[in-house]
Amino acid sequence: MNELRRLYDRLRDPAYTGRNRCVACTAVNAVLAVLAAGLIGLVSPPLAAATLVVAGIVVTLRGYLVPGTPSLTRRYLPDRVHALFEAGDVPTEDPAATLVALGVVDDPADPLLTLWFQRRHAAALSERRTDAALARYVGDALSADPDAVAFEAAPDGDGVVATVDGDWVGAWPSRAALVADAATNAVLAARPAWGDFDHVVRADLAGRVRGFVDECPACDGAIVDSEGTVDSCCRSVQVLARSCSACDARLVELERDREAFAPG
Ligand SMILES: [Zn+2]
Repeated sequence: MNELRRLYDRLRDPAYTGRNRCVACTAVNAVLAVLAAGLIGLVSPPLAAATLVVAGIVVTLRGYLVPGTPSLTRRYLPDRVHALFEAGDVPTEDPAATLVALGVVDDPADPLLTLWFQRRHAAALSERRTDAALARYVGDALSADPDAVAFEAAPDGDGVVATVDGDWVGAWPSRAALVADAATNAVLAARPAWGDFDHVVRADLAGRVRGFVDECPACDGAIVDSEGTVDSCCRSVQVLARSCSACDARLVELERDREAFAPG
């Protein structure tokens, strides 16, 4: 079984499989495979069965069957189809109220970081810029051994991916964003309510806190807003981004049509 798993890991394309699998691309390719097998089946049923098996293996390993599907689906699948495929957000019911209750921001209508949080966050940042400190943060969040945590550049070269024993466990738009989240977690660990949230909610709230940080967690440069387009594997999204003016690290991207209090 282990050898099969190793073979699978060696052959698969991590950019489009595992947690990076695009459900829309996989579904489109599965439909194409069934249609192709149906046509072939008119001539030769055994060949149709073989086609389905091969197509299944290819989609499992590569994430798609037809080369270029990620850009094809980006062009032709309308947004409302994507909405059907995308899992809903998993934050607390009212993240703004939660961050107010935790003492991170003072006013949900006009959110700014409280002085209490700003001071402690700034102090916590400097101790969380090393790989060892970041591995401890990810390991603790997932109840995993920090020694099994590794960081690498995201498959599209944009951002940082964390793995535990080679399995993808999380992604951040930059190392600076990861440092910010580790510091937020360290500060809020002092609040009993923080421990009551599961790690998905804590990561979600830490990501929202990044939207209010004014200094780069990595180099202390000023954070500035910009507009742009981000290509995910299947579509282009208009975003507002907050990035460091000195080192270019991106802290958050907000979809333009989403509410201001919801960096994703
Ligand atoms: Zn910076």
